[in-house]
Amino acid sequence: TNKLNVLSDSALMAADTAHHLHPFTDYKALAAEGSRVIVRAEGCTLWDSQGNAILDGMAGLWCVNIGYGREELADVAARQMRELPYYNTFFKTTTRPATELATRLAELTPPGLEHVFFANSGSEANDTIVRMVRRYWQLHGQPERNVIISREYAYHGSTLVGASLGGMSAMHSQTGLPLPGFEHIRPPYYLRDGGNMTPQEFGVAAAQALEERILALGPERVAAFIAEPIQGAGGVIVPPDSYFPEIQRICREYGILLIADEVICGFGRTGNWFGSETFGIEPDLMTLAKGLSSGYLPISAVMVGDRVARTLIDEGGEFFHGFTYSGHPVACAVALENLRIMQDEGLVERVRDDIGPYFQDRLRELADHPLVGEVRGVGLIAGVELVRDKDGPVFFQPEGRVGTICRDHCFRNNVIMRAVRDGMVISPPLVISHAEVDRLVETAR
Ligand code: PLP
Repeated sequence: TNKLNVLSDSALMAADTAHHLHPFTDYKALAAEGSRVIVRAEGCTLWDSQGNAILDGMAGLWCVNIGYGREELADVAARQMRELPYYNTFFKTTTRPATELATRLAELTPPGLEHVFFANSGSEANDTIVRMVRRYWQLHGQPERNVIISREYAYHGSTLVGASLGGMSAMHSQTGLPLPGFEHIRPPYYLRDGGNMTPQEFGVAAAQALEERILALGPERVAAFIAEPIQGAGGVIVPPDSYFPEIQRICREYGILLIADEVICGFGRTGNWFGSETFGIEPDLMTLAKGLSSGYLPISAVMVGDRVARTLIDEGGEFFHGFTYSGHPVACAVALENLRIMQDEGLVERVRDDIGPYFQDRLRELADHPLVGEVRGVGLIAGVELVRDKDGPVFFQPEGRVGTICRDHCFRNNVIMRAVRDGMVISPPLVISHAEVDRLVETAR
């Protein structure tokens, strides 16, 4: 037997400290405190090696949309592994699951997004988009159109391009990012920047920051604008309804491609299949990952609209880009089964009509608390932001401690939420029960 299978918890912890560099982790703090070892899961509940049952208010990393423990996905994966565990989609081969998933995604996503490029993570999909966008403008004889505009607090991944697209200053400062050609404007963050404006006035003003930046750079240099419909890891920043229509107008006026990063908002999170539908966005390109397979296997996809696809297909020749595991047959088979379950169980409608409104209503009960500056969210994604004083509002200084205290309080009570600055974000599996929502809210209170 593998000796790791028989390690005690303390020996596992020592091995973890000795060998495992975790993502997004302070290594000294981890060595001092150790990890909690998660050993199994079912529905919205995780169990650790001590036997504690933990309610997962984050669906892993915003991804386990259909919940844990779905036998059907394990069965499909095993079947596909036995039949054809791997073949690539480079050059002129495909596999049945890859082509079937591409077809299904073309059906599910909004009209006009008919072509799919597969990758393995949200980061890789966004890297792919940057390469496609630059190739598109090159083929149109405008190679100097290579600047991509994004937003502060955006999260688009951890590769050099993903982190450059992202607007996380902590990520930038550690590695000399962003790379040249990536610009950031302010997000539609009403609580922070709304001032005396109504949310709708502010939405238009925040969108016009895009136009100002385009004009400052010169429209002939700007290739694309990228946005998450709701900024997830940035603190669940929900745009006013007026924001995206104005963004759309500006992109059209200057001929700039619009990219919707649906890695979190896609697959039911906001009560529609895609956040673009919730906010009336008509993107030229769309990034999909996480909920595509509910996290059961790594897979991501770029949805490519007609405008870019026709140029690449008709005029592009060979596109020198791809990954060994682009369209991996097992991941594609699992994603197809995940989408079948979402559809057969009506999970998107459940978020729109039932559990989403219940979750949002119950969370808004926290809004009266003297430290709660804002409760915001749509469907099954929400943020609760804490402030020192609601008047102003006055934010905590230095920022970031209060969120961590709340997160740790929840964790001690066996509920997982995530801290972002001085707030909590919540994004549970779409199968969460009413009683489990009650428990999330009671623990946060
Ligand atoms: N885009 C968004 C909106 C995300 O939230 C994430 C991950 O959280 C990514 C991209 C990157 O995805 P991955 O971690 O799979 O590379």
